[in-house]
Amino acid sequence: MGAYSVVHVYVHVPFCARRCSYCDFAIAVRRDVPSEHFTELVLREWDAWQEHPAWGESPDVRTIYLGGGTPSRLSGAAVARLLEGIARRRGIVSGAEVTLEANPDDVTPAAARTWRAAGVNRVSLGVQSFDPAVLRWMHRTHTAEQVAPAVEALRSAGIEELSLDLIFGLPAALGRDWDADLARAFALAPEHLSLYGLTVEEHTPLGRWTERGDVAPVDEERYALEFLGAHQALAANGFEHYEVSNAARPGRRARHNSAYWRRAPFVGLGPSAHSGFGPVRQWNLRDWSAYARALAEGRNAVAGREELGAEAVSLEEIYLGLRTVDGVSVERLPPESIGAWEAQGWAEATPGRRVRLTAEGWLRLDALAASAAGGSG
Ligand code: SF4
Repeated sequence: MGAYSVVHVYVHVPFCARRCSYCDFAIAVRRDVPSEHFTELVLREWDAWQEHPAWGESPDVRTIYLGGGTPSRLSGAAVARLLEGIARRRGIVSGAEVTLEANPDDVTPAAARTWRAAGVNRVSLGVQSFDPAVLRWMHRTHTAEQVAPAVEALRSAGIEELSLDLIFGLPAALGRDWDADLARAFALAPEHLSLYGLTVEEHTPLGRWTERGDVAPVDEERYALEFLGAHQALAANGFEHYEVSNAARPGRRARHNSAYWRRAPFVGLGPSAHSGFGPVRQWNLRDWSAYARALAEGRNAVAGREELGAEAVSLEEIYLGLRTVDGVSVERLPPESIGAWEAQGWAEATPGRRVRLTAEGWLRLDALAASAAGGSG
């Protein structure tokens, strides 16, 4: 494995107060979060990475992302220790983006101040909806009333980069007013919004409700209407819809996620976290207990590793490129695909001989990327 300048670090914090009805992430439901234990293990893993042959010449860290799970359930002291520990082994550049995912019910003025003092400068808040009935259906632990005070606490603490997560494409029977939820999100003046379409995953409460016929998933038409409606509303409110699920005010794109879409090298720490360097990627044990046991016994926590061939790397680059407004260079796509997509209004040419998908194209992202596969190289 050659040397790469790894400058992006992801930490998966698996703990949640309970499992949301739609969630199949690698989480551990805990009332009491083992913050100290978790931090110690993650830093042990980080220490081991320093000797890894993938590291380039002492690169400093440019982005850190504490995701989950619910990182806001870690103690403030653990967040501080985690960031200190990362910085002790490898410099963090001045102005680095340091993001923490938080649920609104965990955000207090004191917690927000602690995170900011620890070096967090960006918070991604899991709002999902402002509709109380929808939040209950989702098994979220927060209420709609907790969102505005959480935003206020974060702003007062000096968090200048705020992202809100919302979920669309909910079953029609819930009667969710998507436009109203978007309007409430815009009113909170975030710099960034992530809009995710609900997917029904097996082995989740939603998966079981759907299988039993208790819930009818959203139909394609409604899903498309909500996605395209959001695309328009984002533009009308000064946001650039820069990736299929993400929008930002000018200059406020998520730097960590953007690095991932460029296939920049990154290190993932914590259970289920993925790391990637060029064609190589590896992932950790998914289960928190198995991860903790492996590290406690002096083993590493890696569960698998693969090296992609040139064709697979190329396909991934095309797929990731088509997710963003930067698109891909025309040479990467079969000319007949470009022509057909443009004729349908699914893609458009951009300066620099690049092509990108439109919002209509993003609705068909997987199919279009797969159909373009034949022309990659
Ligand atoms: S808070 Fe997030 S990670 Fe935790 S169960 Fe809910 S959706 Fe999943």
